[in-house]
Amino acid sequence: MANPNLYIKQMEMGPMQNFVYFVGDKKTREVAVVDTAWDVPEILKAAEKEEVTITHALVSHYHFDHTNGLPDLLKELDVPVYINKAEEQWMKGLAAENTKAVKSGDKIKLGEIEIEFLHTPGHTPGSQCFLVDGNLISGDTLFIDACGRTDLPGGNPEDLYHSLTTKLMKLDDSTILFPGHNYSELQTVTMGEQKETNPFLNIPTLDDFLKKFGYKE
Ligand SMILES: [Zn+2]
Repeated sequence: MANPNLYIKQMEMGPMQNFVYFVGDKKTREVAVVDTAWDVPEILKAAEKEEVTITHALVSHYHFDHTNGLPDLLKELDVPVYINKAEEQWMKGLAAENTKAVKSGDKIKLGEIEIEFLHTPGHTPGSQCFLVDGNLISGDTLFIDACGRTDLPGGNPEDLYHSLTTKLMKLDDSTILFPGHNYSELQTVTMGEQKETNPFLNIPTLDDFLKKFGYKE
């Protein structure tokens, strides 16, 4: 049973179809903002309108389109910023003192709601997803019917294959996917649906995966 106190709000922002999220506890009104980018005044206005208090910031990965709002956010709010330890160094100019480096399996709690960090390298070395009471906020690791690219610096298709097959494919079919960009007609789907329709989740071997990505003839 999903926790009735669970609160998730999806907001599209900026020129690259990014999704920014609030996730937290409906009762205590504490939320984490996931991937603070593009329009901090809009994020703060949304928090006011929703009557929630931003107490944490979570970073799916260091790319600028997921982090460029952190300096402005931290001017307004002194909140901890959670990033995977593999990408801690990228936070220097963005969130220096507020940075909290985490590893896979670490958890934080907002009210009654527990958020678990799931390290899913591939798109970047420290890419992480957030597991929240049967929901997966996936950053750029997994999109609806697609996955993150691996041809940017630090990208690694082998790592991505393992993250998809040994971590995300293992999630329960009822898990709801909340991706990092609005690249699809739908904004959320279940992992059960993704296991059937996402071509990147249905590649039997690493070799096939590398060929599909064009890393191997
Ligand atoms: Zn990215």
